[in-house]
Amino acid sequence: MFNDHPYFEQTFFYKQHLDMKYILFWLVLAISLGCAKPDPQVPPVAEATGKMVKLESSFERPKNIILLIGDGMGLTQISAGLYANNNRLNLEKFRIIGLHKSYSGSDLVTDSAAGATAFASGVKTYNGAIGVDMDTMPVKTILEEAEDRGLATGMVATSTIVHATPASFIAHQKNRKMYEEIAADFLDTEIDFFVGGGKKYFDRRNSDTRNLYAELEAKDYYVSDYFREDLIQCKISKGKNFAYFTADDDPLPVAQGRDYLFAASKMALAFLRGHSDNGFFLMIEGSQIDWGGHANESNYIISEMIDFDRTIGEVLKFAERDGQTLVIVTADHETGGYSILPGSRMDSLATAFTTDYHTADLIPVFAYGPGARVFGGIYENTAIYRKMKRVMGW
Ligand code: MG
Ligand code: ZN
Repeated sequence: MFNDHPYFEQTFFYKQHLDMKYILFWLVLAISLGCAKPDPQVPPVAEATGKMVKLESSFERPKNIILLIGDGMGLTQISAGLYANNNRLNLEKFRIIGLHKSYSGSDLVTDSAAGATAFASGVKTYNGAIGVDMDTMPVKTILEEAEDRGLATGMVATSTIVHATPASFIAHQKNRKMYEEIAADFLDTEIDFFVGGGKKYFDRRNSDTRNLYAELEAKDYYVSDYFREDLIQCKISKGKNFAYFTADDDPLPVAQGRDYLFAASKMALAFLRGHSDNGFFLMIEGSQIDWGGHANESNYIISEMIDFDRTIGEVLKFAERDGQTLVIVTADHETGGYSILPGSRMDSLATAFTTDYHTADLIPVFAYGPGARVFGGIYENTAIYRKMKRVMGW
């Protein structure tokens, strides 16, 4: 179904077209070099080359980027989710797959802060760092850059919105535990849409008397929360930004009733698409796959993995229809040293863990859409940032 998407046909057609152009180009070059006096009708070589490069990059350039991060989602987490879901995942629809080296600037085994800062800003930093480098100096994030360039921006997470992964795309703090400082950083970048937990870090702060919930409203955000109304009841309007808190602190695991990742992601796509003519950057995090790993609970991992994959399916549907959207799915690291043991059956997995922390495994990267092909291969986690910038032409 995905191979016969127009994008693939177009790519194929274009490649053939390009091949012909190459032949023509070399022919012209050979003729012009062979002639003592070049024909004035023949365009100069530099101009011809420049034109082809431009053609190629403009075709591959996406308008929108959606980066999906499954926190703690190593290959075993994916495998367990796949088998437990009747041997089916939306992840199977991707044709372009790579691996990234997840280690951080301080440790072979990264944490989510350093991992997300690598994706967001392209630097290897120390574990615990939120949008700062090894010397604790702020580094500009891809979300901030998108905002500067007039793209709409958004984040959806199933942790608090100030937790390490989302925080690293918008905040600059030397320690991931500085939740109130991280929350304040949300007021410094005009992110257009965000959904996640952690309301208390905005409206009941210990470190100062600011009420960031009210400050967001004053900045013309439509702000709401789980206590006031259901997410799907919120009336989003084109002129306003949107912020919604799904919990006071950490949202529940999906197995205990949390159900917003799919709905919030769908809302984000509709909202961001209509919010700017210049495209959008959206980060969606399946935050709790990692927490299942820390808890060494296989069922927790699997239910979170399937929830995340369901959202991936919806995002792919959007990208397939839209045709201008690059979708990237990856993880910051593996969690638990999770493995599937002999004696397992597809419908009953015997699993084990070697740690309650993260591991240093290579981590899969899945890509679809314009620019996707640069995500094949093995590269540093920081290369994901550079590849996103490259395909956007930034
Ligand atoms: Mg996370
Ligand atoms: Zn973790």
